[in-house]
Order: sequence, then structure tokens, then C-alpha cells
Amino acid sequence: MTNDAQRKITEEEVLFVEEAFSEFEAIGSTEKKCPWCDGKSNFVNAVSAYSIHCTKCEFKVTARGI
Ligand SMILES: [Zn+2]
Repeated sequence: MTNDAQRKITEEEVLFVEEAFSEFEAIGSTEKKCPWCDGKSNFVNAVSAYSIHCTKCEFKVTARGI
């Protein structure tokens, strides 16, 4: 009885994403998997923001400023 498309991102998941992004920044990739499933985390890097999205489910977070 889950509906991933309408799921809200929790604070904990935002922290997870920040950690994963630091790892990505430091070594160019991350071992961290999507917190919702076991999908791979993909990053999109922009000038003043970045976003992370899962390759398998609807998990997506956009964050500003690095
Ligand atoms: Zn996922």
C-alpha cells in the first residue's frame, strides 16, 4: 500500500542525499543506494544547485547551494 509517486522526502532522506553528494563530489561517484529502493543514485550538477534521482523509482531531491 505504498505510492512512491506521492511520497514525501523526509529530513532524514535529505541528509542522506547530502552525504551521498559529498561522496560524489569527493570521488566522482557514490556507493550509496536510493533510500527507497536499491536503485543507483544519479546526480545532476548545476552551477548553484544539484539534484539526485533514482534510476529505478520516483525518488528525486533537488538542493541548492553547495
Ligand atoms: Zn529508488
